Amino acid sequence: MNGPPARERPTRLVLLGHPVSHSLSPRFHNAALRAAGIAVRYEALDTPPEHLASTLAELRREGAGGNVTIPLKESMRVACDRLTALAERVGAVNTFWFEDGALHGDNTDVAGFEKAAAELLGESPRDVELLLVGAGGAARAVLAAAERWPGARVTIQNRTPARAEALAREFPVVRAVVQDPRPALGAATLVVNATSVGMRDDAQPVDAALLPPAAAVLDLVYRRGETEWVRAARARGLRAADGATMLLEQGAESFRRWFGMEPDREVMRDALR
Ligand code: NAP
Repeated sequence: MNGPPARERPTRLVLLGHPVSHSLSPRFHNAALRAAGIAVRYEALDTPPEHLASTLAELRREGAGGNVTIPLKESMRVACDRLTALAERVGAVNTFWFEDGALHGDNTDVAGFEKAAAELLGESPRDVELLLVGAGGAARAVLAAAERWPGARVTIQNRTPARAEALAREFPVVRAVVQDPRPALGAATLVVNATSVGMRDDAQPVDAALLPPAAAVLDLVYRRGETEWVRAARARGLRAADGATMLLEQGAESFRRWFGMEPDREVMRDALR
C-alpha cells in the first residue's frame, strides 16, 4: 500500500506535536528499537506550530525522522518536499524522514486503522455501513481506508457540521452528513469514534445504549484501561475495540518506512501495556 522504506536510516527519531508529553509512542518505539538492536533513540519533542520550520531545519541537518501528531499533521503535509500518494489523499502526514536532504512524508494512520478494523470485521470488509463521528485528521485517515472497501457507505456526524460537509465533498464514499446520528444507527455495521470525546473523561461520542447489536464499535481514542464507550458497548455484547491496535500498527508501519524491517509487535504491545 505504501511506498518502499527510506533509503537512508534516520539517525534520530522524534515525535513532533504540541503537547506531546502524554504520548505513548516513545515507550513502544524505544522498546522496538532496542529489540532490533538499532542504536537510535525516539523522543517526544514538544513543537508549537510556530517552531515547526526551525525544528525541521535542525532535523534536516541531523538526518532525523519521526512522527507528527496534533496539531501539526496538516502543516507537515505542506512542509514536505515529497508525499506518498496516500499522504496526499489523506491530506495529512504522520510519518517523515529525509532522503538526499528532501523531506518525505507518509500517512501510516490509514494502515493502522485498516488493521484495527480488520480485527473487528475481517480482512477487506465488503458493504460496510460506517457511521463516522468526527471530521478531523483521524477521520480523514478513516475515509481514505473506507474508500478502498468495496461497497462501503459512510455517514458522518461532527460537532461542527461544516467540517463534515467539507469531507463529504472530498471523499465520495461519504453518502450523508447528519447532525443527529440516531437515524443512521439502525443500518450501521461499524461505528467509529474519530473525535477526542472520551479521552479525558467518560463521555461517549454516541450513547452506547443506542448502538445496534450487530454493529462493531471502534474507538480511535486510546487510554489506560479502555474507554467508557468501549466498555459500555462490550457490556451490551457488541464487538468493540479502542485505539490501541491502530496506535501500535501505525507505529509498526512507520518503523517499516524508516528501517525497511518489521518491528517486534509483541515487544511493542508489552511496552504499550
Ligand atoms: P483533530 O483533527 O483535532 O479533530 C478532533 C475531532 O474531535 C473533531 O472532529 C472535533 O470536532 C472533535 N471534538 C473535539 N472535542 C469535541 C467535543 N467536546 N465534542 C464533540 N466533538 C469534539 O484530532 P484528530 O487527529 O482527528 O484525533 C481525534 C482523536 O483520534 C484523538 O482522540 C486522537 O488521539 C485519536 N487518534 C488516535 C489514533 C490512534 O492511533 N489510535 C490516531 C490518530 C488519532 P470539531 O470539528 O467540531 O472541532
